[in-house]
Amino acid sequence: MQAHDQIFQNINLGLMVLDRDLRVRAWNRWMELHSSLSFAEVEGKSILQFYPHLAQPEFSRFFKSVLSFGNYAFFSQKLHRQLIPMKNPHPSVAHIPYMQQNCTAGPIRNDQRAIESIYITIQDVTEYVMYEHRLVEMSRLDPMTRLLNRSHLEQTLSEEMSRAQRYGTPLSVLMIDIDFFKSINDTYGHVCGDQVIKAIANLLKDTVRRIDVVGRYGGEEFCCVLPETASDNAVLLAERLRGMVEEKVHTFGAHTLKVTISVGVAELSPGRDTLERLVNAADDALYRSKHQGRNRVTCAALEESAPHPASASSLLAN
Ligand code: GH3
Ligand code: MG
Ligand code: MG
Repeated sequence: MQAHDQIFQNINLGLMVLDRDLRVRAWNRWMELHSSLSFAEVEGKSILQFYPHLAQPEFSRFFKSVLSFGNYAFFSQKLHRQLIPMKNPHPSVAHIPYMQQNCTAGPIRNDQRAIESIYITIQDVTEYVMYEHRLVEMSRLDPMTRLLNRSHLEQTLSEEMSRAQRYGTPLSVLMIDIDFFKSINDTYGHVCGDQVIKAIANLLKDTVRRIDVVGRYGGEEFCCVLPETASDNAVLLAERLRGMVEEKVHTFGAHTLKVTISVGVAELSPGRDTLERLVNAADDALYRSKHQGRNRVTCAALEESAPHPASASSLLAN
């Protein structure tokens, strides 16, 4: 076998050549291995016979750009679907069903410089995509509870507030804090404390609706963003969460223990229209829950909000 044939067959990259009618003229071993189609099966046949989706406009443009205009093209898995759908060959990344591919293509010219065919390379980038997913996840999630971390929760809250203001829909937030948590740590140790935090996080995550967002706001503090929810319904949910936490029995070694939460509820309103004001209102309500004996829900009354600049100036005008 010629040196370049050996490279063609053994390189860790999918290589194929298609003629101007998209008939397969070359197909290396990598392609055979990952497509489960041997060269003998595909040789001389249109690639569309095996992969009909390649007739769609986005792919036609890709082929045309090379075959008609002699361009070199890059086809990224980030922007497009897989060129040739292949099973993900990495068992360690089993949650990604298909191989993620970066593809390049270019023209092959004859002695008269006329474009005779197109070569396509396929690179398996599944593992890079997995690392990218993981990095994004690490930047968004609190590692202990896998809830959104504070900065992403605030970003989500800010987006939801803009949406609610744009469409005139209600929005509420819950600030939740575990009662007397320090004594759990002091009595049973931090490992037990961590276990309780995780259990409460799961309970919150599993109880709220799909459109609600739960984040870990601080050590043993959580925040729920409830789009399309006015404070009366937010209080009902908060009461439900409070009751569920109160009922839940935590087992730690030979010990069983229970904890309670205090909750502050605040609804977005004209006088409470910035992230800071909304969170502060929920925080104040939470503080009152603590002050009034804990294991309870307190809702910030709408009229309690800080005066809106417009209403403040109209008061002054009077
Ligand atoms: P209160 O009812 O007023 O909220 O009392 P508390 O004891 O819960 O309040 P405080 O804020 O004084 O204590 C919170 C404790 O939570 C202090 C800190 O050591 C503990 N804590 C914060 N983050 C973690 C964590 O990730 N793991 C564990 N085990 N403890 C944590
Ligand atoms: Mg606490
Ligand atoms: Mg606290």
